[in-house]
Amino acid sequence: METKTTNTNEHLNSICTKAEDGQLVCSLISPEDLTCQIEQEKAALPPEATYEQKAFAVIEKLYPDIPASVLELSLKPQRQITVEIPLEMDDGQIRSFTGYRIQFNNRRGPYKGGLRFHPQVDLEEATTLARLMAQKTALVNIPFGGGKGGIAVDPRKLSKRELQQLTRNFVNAIASEIGPQKDIPAPDVNTTPEIMGWIFDQYSKLNGESPAVVTGKPEGLFGSKGRPEATGRGVMYTTREAAKNMGLELKGAKVIVQGFGNVGYYAAKLLAEECGATIVGLSTSAGGVYNLDGLDVEAAQTFYKAHGSLNGFTGSQPLTNEELLTSACDILIPAALGKAITAAIAEKIQAKLVVEGANDCTVPEADEILNKRGIVVVPDILANSGGVIVSYFEWTQNLGNFYWTLDEVRTSLERIIIAAYGNVDALSKRANVSRRLASYVIAHERIARATMARGIC
Ligand code: NAD
Repeated sequence: METKTTNTNEHLNSICTKAEDGQLVCSLISPEDLTCQIEQEKAALPPEATYEQKAFAVIEKLYPDIPASVLELSLKPQRQITVEIPLEMDDGQIRSFTGYRIQFNNRRGPYKGGLRFHPQVDLEEATTLARLMAQKTALVNIPFGGGKGGIAVDPRKLSKRELQQLTRNFVNAIASEIGPQKDIPAPDVNTTPEIMGWIFDQYSKLNGESPAVVTGKPEGLFGSKGRPEATGRGVMYTTREAAKNMGLELKGAKVIVQGFGNVGYYAAKLLAEECGATIVGLSTSAGGVYNLDGLDVEAAQTFYKAHGSLNGFTGSQPLTNEELLTSACDILIPAALGKAITAAIAEKIQAKLVVEGANDCTVPEADEILNKRGIVVVPDILANSGGVIVSYFEWTQNLGNFYWTLDEVRTSLERIIIAAYGNVDALSKRANVSRRLASYVIAHERIARATMARGIC
């Protein structure tokens, strides 16, 4: 027996059940009853169920025309590429580094996602992050799939020549697998616009001038205006929307930002400058600084550039990263690496709102705890989607060879990310699920429908 649910108006949903003889029997159902049915589906799952399993249980209730087998397809990477990259070091020795490119899903468009240069990069981490990219591009409804990759290397231990040669050798190894309509890399942890410029140049040497093969390039080299600030700006827009929904006054709200790189710096700066928030805590891998009266973001940035950490920053109290995450504030923005919010930390977080700048930064047990404690979470695939949205603008500009003003970039980013936030908020209220679950439901419904529309299933 098959069940179909449609939203008839804001008060009632219609549930249609297909009887054995094929007849559709429809009845109206209140939001409370729909919530109850979804709760029963979720309760039937084991406690360790993944976000995707929980989302699939909701999709089964809301959209029974999508077969479970099609949903399952979106959980497996389509291709995982591992390459060994030889590099001649400055002292003449030859070393080899391992590089990865995961092409997770391209049902909705070319694979899209960053390249990370970090010693902890491995197949498992890259695959998790590639899946998040497929979900993110679907959630914000831009015409891409998901990919991710990188090199297991500490770039700080390489000279500039070594770093450039390693990047070019990596491009040589994966050149046949990437391309403007195939797979489009972008920056991520420790990969800069300059590195994206080298990728563009190397790929173009092999395939002819191809600016659209990579995004996040320098502005003077086919990059888009507004790309460096894009992820932080998206974090600011989603924080603003969530605060508005919660009735939390952003002017004067106390904000802690963990991680003071590209995402953390711009999120802190824009929340302070454009929303009047007070940034009370900041951190880098070397530790955090805190001052309940507020920190000067620009002065902190100047200090960080000069000293390589925030340790000793004037007018602040030093804290460990764990202490920082659990210090007094209204809003917490993790913007460093994954798995920062563990169950133990989630129990002690004092913020009312957590906006996930970093990917995969909250472990599932911690997410449950935050939900139970009534702390609102704007999930990574929504909160940090500003980067890939502006990457989409860059790709569009490269293909059309027509360049936008900064104002056009910002206005379009705001429109797309606020629309996505609105969809998540509406579904979260309609089905009485967390914003994270609502985000996964929207993303997987779109991926599944594209898969079916292609005639794959
Ligand atoms: P980045 O390399 O510019 O900065 C990372 C920052 O985090 C640095 O300040 C570093 O010192 C700090 N850090 C590292 N380990 C830490 C720890 N244990 N505790 C506290 N701070 C720590 O990286 P980024 O581009 O800002 O990316 C940050 C996160 O945002 C990553 O999870 C990345 O995947 C995600 N993200 C980035 C973008 C983007 O456009 N850059 C887009 C989407 C998601």
